[in-house]
Amino acid sequence: RQAIEAAWPGLELIVLPDDPAARLPAEVLERIDFAYFSGDVYPEYSRSFFAATQGAPNLRWLHTFNAGVDNPVFRRFLDRGVVLSTSSGSTAQPIAQSVIGGMLMLARPFLRWADAQRRRAWEPVPASEAPADLAGQRMTVVGLGAIGSEVARLARAFGLEVTGVRRSPRREGDPVERVVPPGELPALARETDWLVLACPLTEETRGLVSRDVLAALPRGACLLNVARGEVVDEAALIEALATGHLGGAYLDVFTTEPLPPDSPLWGLPNVIISPHNSAVAAGNERRATEGYFLPNLARMRAGQPLVNEVR
Ligand code: NAD
Repeated sequence: RQAIEAAWPGLELIVLPDDPAARLPAEVLERIDFAYFSGDVYPEYSRSFFAATQGAPNLRWLHTFNAGVDNPVFRRFLDRGVVLSTSSGSTAQPIAQSVIGGMLMLARPFLRWADAQRRRAWEPVPASEAPADLAGQRMTVVGLGAIGSEVARLARAFGLEVTGVRRSPRREGDPVERVVPPGELPALARETDWLVLACPLTEETRGLVSRDVLAALPRGACLLNVARGEVVDEAALIEALATGHLGGAYLDVFTTEPLPPDSPLWGLPNVIISPHNSAVAAGNERRATEGYFLPNLARMRAGQPLVNEVR
């Protein structure tokens, strides 16, 4: 609140009550022309926020703390002509760290050590079963945006060779050895030890990691998915993990969320599951407000185009 008031003195700031049952009086709703959904994302609050702002007849701009806006609630604002902007990028660091954490758990014997620890068993991994060196392994990152670029940057510190999949060619400063267009993914899969998904869900990316792409990965390769569940053929993924074709997976997103209790993914060894929670970090709200909302507020005030505007 202080930061917003300092950025735009004299702006009337209405803080929506943290109470799902609260209703704003019509004369207050009429005075709202900008709204910031600032990240109290528990469902009751979200519902009351969206119900209130949807009923604001003069709302012109909605900025959200979220990165992705595939939730249908956002479409309703776009359809009535409200400008929508996101904080895409504000959670890239913690998500990339979760991806690297998942990779390290699979690359080093953490799952085995943790299992032995729970049994109070001293079971060193013998040299004959030593895991492969990480340095020199090949990572493919689909979606070289805020998250994918941060994953690539961190992975290179471990000596991985990173290839990005993107429609536009390699640019100066890209944290990858090479960039290939999406059409080359099936061929690239054959040379991929770690397949990272960090692209948006679009008609082009739905089912992109098909049964064929999974089959093309070398035996023992691992999948790290923080994009959306629908980017992968989940039935084929389960099969590839169960047969041992894939060495493991770190999965934050699923075709159906919450992941149903009877999903085979829960019980597969070498699968690490986080409940669409890879982004969780105390600094997210500050990063979204300072890095995205306030700069956009200044742009809105100056009549300039917004950053991360959804079209
Ligand atoms: P971003 O917009 O910065 O990056 C997305 C990148 O994907 C862009 O560079 C875009 O050009 C690229 N892309 C689009 N279509 C592609 C395709 N067909 N093939 C290859 N690349 C393609 O977004 P971001 O902040 O990095 O987030 C990426 C996605 O991750 C989001 O759209 C969202 O679905 C997902 N996400 C998940 C979580 C989570 O909690 N797991 C949180 C934030 C975002």
